[in-house]
Amino acid sequence: MRNLQITGERLWASLMELAQIGATAKGGVCRLAASDLDGDARRLFIRWCEEAGCTVRVDKIGNIFARRAGRNPTLPPVVTGSHLDTQPTGGKFDGAYGVMAGLEVVRTLNDLGYETEAPIEIVAWTNEEGSRFSPAMVGSGVFAGVFDLAEGLARPDNVTGVTLGAELERIGFAGAEEVGGREVAAYFEAHIEQGPILEAVQKPIGVVTGAQGQRWYEITVTGQEAHAGPTPMPRRRDALVGAARMIDAVNRIGHAHAPYACATVGFVQVSPNSRNTIPGRVFFTVDFRHPENAVLTVMDTELRQACDAAAAPIGLDVDVKEFWYFPPTPFDPRLVAAVRGAAEAQGYPHQDIISGAGHDAVYMARVAPTAMIFVPCVGGIRHNEIEDARPEDLTAGCNVLLNAVLGRASPEI
Ligand SMILES: [Zn+2]
Repeated sequence: MRNLQITGERLWASLMELAQIGATAKGGVCRLAASDLDGDARRLFIRWCEEAGCTVRVDKIGNIFARRAGRNPTLPPVVTGSHLDTQPTGGKFDGAYGVMAGLEVVRTLNDLGYETEAPIEIVAWTNEEGSRFSPAMVGSGVFAGVFDLAEGLARPDNVTGVTLGAELERIGFAGAEEVGGREVAAYFEAHIEQGPILEAVQKPIGVVTGAQGQRWYEITVTGQEAHAGPTPMPRRRDALVGAARMIDAVNRIGHAHAPYACATVGFVQVSPNSRNTIPGRVFFTVDFRHPENAVLTVMDTELRQACDAAAAPIGLDVDVKEFWYFPPTPFDPRLVAAVRGAAEAQGYPHQDIISGAGHDAVYMARVAPTAMIFVPCVGGIRHNEIEDARPEDLTAGCNVLLNAVLGRASPEI
């Protein structure tokens, strides 16, 4: 009964239809968490799940669970999915692929009249991207007990300050279910790769063995605002000059720990941001990643030293606040082996890989056996409108997902 096959054309058609919600002129998708468009995508997903015979529930942080019953209703479910929100210039597949792959697994089992022992649930997590409401992965984070519910709902929109809770209410997705606190037999997430590795080695399946650790910082540099004309150079306390040197140091720290370290400054606010005023205050973010905790600790020390070294000569105050941290996360060895086994059984070339990005699976790994399946993205580009994937790779990943899920949901067969 193993080596069942999904219908690749149906998976592709669903992805393309979903991508029309928030479609951008450059072929990407802009569907920010808890926006009207996110609401539209959620309603389409729910309609498809109900048409596939699933029972749909929404929890208090807006996570959607679509359940296909198993023969034994007392067994905890095998859960698979990802997220429907995107970055402002997101692509068609980041997140959407994992959710639609879960739906395609259910549709395939329906076509075959295949009854599993355990129930299967397709999940769409709220606010994975963290672009509109930071931090990222709030829905799965509350589910896994990383954040409490009130904290998650109170997260403000980065621009307007309206809360995630208020926006979920407005779009009709402040659900009634308690968040988490129930057993999950296994969690699988299919996702496009966030880098160029699988494409380079020409293998359709990445067997994800775990995720890199991450440390995120918020840095505030304070000097003194002054008029650009009358203030002589030696008397200036220019916060932007100090911040620029710190940003350069962040980049150097990343290079110093090659090839696995990543170090990024992606958000900068200059105050007052006026062309004839010396900047008095700069706020910027730092994102450090590495698969080893020990290296992240060294990078942390180097960052703090570099900030102090840049601030002192200009007479600046610098506040380095660690905003978010999670340690490197190994996935469940049995589930990782199940993914590898499913790829082998299907004859797909595969390679073990470490996830360089945060995914809902990283939080789920704290409360349930978890594994991920990566498929190549063309050009290795993600968080970009031109992100692309080949239909045959998406089909391969979904076939692996189907058989890995079946192995957990009907282990005796
Ligand atoms: Zn994603």
